[in-house]
Amino acid sequence: MNIIVCVSHVPDTTTRINVAGDAKSIDPAGVKFILNPYDELAVEEALRLRDKMKGEVTVITVGADNAKEAIRQALAMGADKGILVKGEKKDSWQVAEMLAQAIKPLNADLILLGKQSIDFDGMEIAPMLSELLDLPAATVVVGLTIDGNKATAEKEVEGGREVIEIELPCIIAAQKGLNDPRYPSLPNIMKAKQKPVQEIQGAPSAARTEVVQLTKPEKKRANKILKTDGNPTHAAHELARMLHEEAKVI
Ligand SMILES: Cc1cc2nc3c(=O)[nH]c(=O)nc-3n(C[C@H](O)[C@H](O)[C@H](O)COP(=O)(O)OP(=O)(O)OC[C@H]3O[C@@H](n4cnc5c(N)ncnc54)[C@H](O)[C@@H]3O)c2cc1C
Repeated sequence: MNIIVCVSHVPDTTTRINVAGDAKSIDPAGVKFILNPYDELAVEEALRLRDKMKGEVTVITVGADNAKEAIRQALAMGADKGILVKGEKKDSWQVAEMLAQAIKPLNADLILLGKQSIDFDGMEIAPMLSELLDLPAATVVVGLTIDGNKATAEKEVEGGREVIEIELPCIIAAQKGLNDPRYPSLPNIMKAKQKPVQEIQGAPSAARTEVVQLTKPEKKRANKILKTDGNPTHAAHELARMLHEEAKVI
């Protein structure tokens, strides 16, 4: 089975993010980047399927040289080889186009992604790839079985689960709960350094969206605890007074 996993290299959620001087992008100084956590689920699922059904797992990322770290992390988990696609990457459409260009010649049976990247939270790449590659897709997948050329995907929907069947080749976007991704072992981290990573140049069309402003959320104001004598009428009076005189909202 020929499995492709698309992985993105994103800022760690624990990292302090600052907006760059242009007020349109993130200042990369001091930012720690990681393999997108939803993509770890996709890599894990690919490895389990490969081990069960034989075949190969190729991880692909669109990004600059440092995005190779995401590829190396997936290789350390057990993927077989990587592809770094370089090229202008200003919006999700360009990323999807470059992924499609790289994936088309590979004759994939299955293309796995995370349901979203935790930086831009677009949730766009899987449906865009579906359109560009003319392949069926299932998103927010929490369960997957493959039988011959049929995939059965369990999807998380509001208040329940939906089970769908789609024919391979297809696109699957992983949601939390699909599996428990493994931690790379030290020998596998060392082995990953020897695994092949091909670099290719992407050729996207013009970006369709533009960031015009990026701002950090306002700092949360301090909470105030209302101290009363326990009488609810007094508490209501005091709250109304504070909202009127101090917060000036009523
Ligand atoms: C308006 C806008 C402007 C942007 N400007 C810039 C910019 O100037 N410079 C810049 O570097 N980035 C920029 N980005 C971010 C970059 O284009 C994102 O990588 C892209 O938007 C994909 O993120 P997403 O949130 O749409 O992905 P989602 O659709 O949320 O991601 C779903 C899945 O797609 C796959 N995926 C996502 N991104 C990649 C990737 N790069 N390679 C391989 N697989 C991937 C992963 O499996 C991921 O789990 C911009 C994004 C937007 C929306």
